[in-house]
Amino acid sequence: MRNGGRGWLVGLLAIAAAMLSCVKVDLSSPPAPVMVVLPAATAIPSPTPIVWPTLSPRSDPLLFRVMTAGVQPPPICQFPDLPTEQHVSRDGDYDIRESLAVGRMECHVTRDSCAYNRLVGKLDPSIIYKKEESSPFDSEDLLVHPAMVQPLTRLNQLVQAEWGGTVQLRITDAYDSLLSHDPTDSNPATRYSLHYEGRAVDLTTLPVDYDRYPRLCALAICAGFDWVHNETTHCHASIKATSLCELCGN
Ligand SMILES: [Zn+2]
Repeated sequence: MRNGGRGWLVGLLAIAAAMLSCVKVDLSSPPAPVMVVLPAATAIPSPTPIVWPTLSPRSDPLLFRVMTAGVQPPPICQFPDLPTEQHVSRDGDYDIRESLAVGRMECHVTRDSCAYNRLVGKLDPSIIYKKEESSPFDSEDLLVHPAMVQPLTRLNQLVQAEWGGTVQLRITDAYDSLLSHDPTDSNPATRYSLHYEGRAVDLTTLPVDYDRYPRLCALAICAGFDWVHNETTHCHASIKATSLCELCGN
């Protein structure tokens, strides 16, 4: 190596020695934690709520066919006939009150409310609707809680089979916005009936024959109703189902 190259190497070594002399290694303290700076969190947008359109109660033959497709009645109804002024639950309890058997009334469903728009029109050409109220309240005899469609369909089939097609099922009252049930309570605000939620119907036969109502009430139990009451002039039948008032947040 020439003198010029050796001098350059010596100089380089001297610089390195000087740098190493400046580095202090403190073995007594742990290494400082490594700080990792994360990018700022960004909010995840909430999904846009889907607002389902509410449907006006209606008698829709297509909806009726869809909801009742495949509904089969039990082959034989062996539930005992229900004497006049007696009531019974589906599991055979003759003492239990309606509110305990099927759930208490949650509210009075008023026309054009959210719960009202969830009622369905039970239109069946073989069922008779009394429709004795003046318009537009007469159509309320067709309005029921959706869970009542199948029991009513089965009951209609059972009535046809029981009396050989000579007797028709008649609905004299279903949903009621007029608070005309429980007239003994003079204060409309405290009147109590599952008719106000569309969870009860009053049933008769046509021709009217009170002697058939013990059997009609029994058939209602076999059809899927949860509590029935033979009120002499009609059979009151109700279902256990989530109140539409509850579904609508009332
Ligand atoms: Zn009733």
